[in-house]
Amino acid sequence: MLTSLRYVCHTVGTLEVPDEVSLIYTVSGCPLRCPGCHSSDLRNPSLGQPLDRSSFGAALDRYAGLASCVCFLGGEWQPDALIELLKLARDRGLATCLYSGLEEIDDRIAVHLDYLKLGPFIAARGGLDQPGTNQRFLDLRSGRDLTHRFQRHAAPAFELAA
Ligand code: SF4
Repeated sequence: MLTSLRYVCHTVGTLEVPDEVSLIYTVSGCPLRCPGCHSSDLRNPSLGQPLDRSSFGAALDRYAGLASCVCFLGGEWQPDALIELLKLARDRGLATCLYSGLEEIDDRIAVHLDYLKLGPFIAARGGLDQPGTNQRFLDLRSGRDLTHRFQRHAAPAFELAA
């Protein structure tokens, strides 16, 4: 099946996945309704440009030797299309990551992932970098919860002596 995903931008960064240099795709068309959504424009399914094998493969060629991981911010709502791209990334020797607003994802997708961020965005609890966050970042290879790696710069929780 041909991909029908769309994306608004791709960047290279080191903050989204610990110890990896990631090629990060921001996917449009999010069907979720997180309370206090921080990116409501991304709910528009016609926003951006097609994320197909051709454009994705060209990007992988461009960042070969630089990126060690591909990270999709969304896209689980088109599982067949996403799996096709995850397979392509792994075939190139890259690790794979998905940021999802769901509490759990389809096992069909999970078997193609090395890293997975789960949980809706709840403004009162904040993102991965907040101590009270409801979100979790998992290393699916080891089963370890790496959420604490995003919080190392958070203010320490202690009280000053009076
Ligand atoms: S996952 Fe939640 S916060 Fe992110 S774009 Fe979708 S509705 Fe908004």
